[in-house]
Amino acid sequence: MDRLRPRNRPVFFGFTNAEIEKMEKALQEAGEESLGKEFCQRLTKSFNRSSGRAGKPVIKWTEIQSWFQTRLQGSPEVPKNEFTRTKGLESKEGGIRDPLELEFEARSSKDGAWYDVEKFIAHRFLSTGEAEVRVRFIGFGAEEDEWVNIKNAVRERSVPLENTECSNLKVGDLVLCFQERRDQAIYYDARILEIQRKIHDIRGCRCLFLIRYDHDNSEDRVRLRRLCRRPKSKAA
Ligand SMILES: [Zn+2]
Repeated sequence: MDRLRPRNRPVFFGFTNAEIEKMEKALQEAGEESLGKEFCQRLTKSFNRSSGRAGKPVIKWTEIQSWFQTRLQGSPEVPKNEFTRTKGLESKEGGIRDPLELEFEARSSKDGAWYDVEKFIAHRFLSTGEAEVRVRFIGFGAEEDEWVNIKNAVRERSVPLENTECSNLKVGDLVLCFQERRDQAIYYDARILEIQRKIHDIRGCRCLFLIRYDHDNSEDRVRLRRLCRRPKSKAA
């Protein structure tokens, strides 16, 4: 099972629970096809784009492939029919989406922070004509489901910044900034107030960003790895 690992493989800190959940689902749906390069690359891309990866090492597709391989060896029979059956059932219940296409984050009204959306459960219209969706957050159970405003509290997921993207950041930019709390990471909208450019070295970006959080106007000085950017608009 180690054969697939490239020799100078950097230390890998492991997958998040949400990622493992998605890989389990993908494995169930695709069976042995999940070992395919393209399949793994697609999944890798979606993981690396997720704000749940911010501040964590970037995943390589071979790491996902090894994970699948290990799982398949452990349970050699993951019949493909299982997939059709589950999927049919899921569609009937509605709301469950292809794990590879999940790309939304929603702002919780409880703390004003953004969380990755696992699925949309229902929608409704308020008397004001505004639309709301009920979302399930990744890593949370049904008891944490929330109704959120479609227009201003749901959006395409933010993307963790790469070292090379540092030079694109400007004062005034809207970013998503990661705050470490006791047992979880929370992401808040923030604006860049000031950038102290430093020479990049082998560790990547060393610049310091002074940011101000939107929700409480507090300020913080952070490194690039704590920031996510808004996805580029498709029209641009
Ligand atoms: Zn930098």
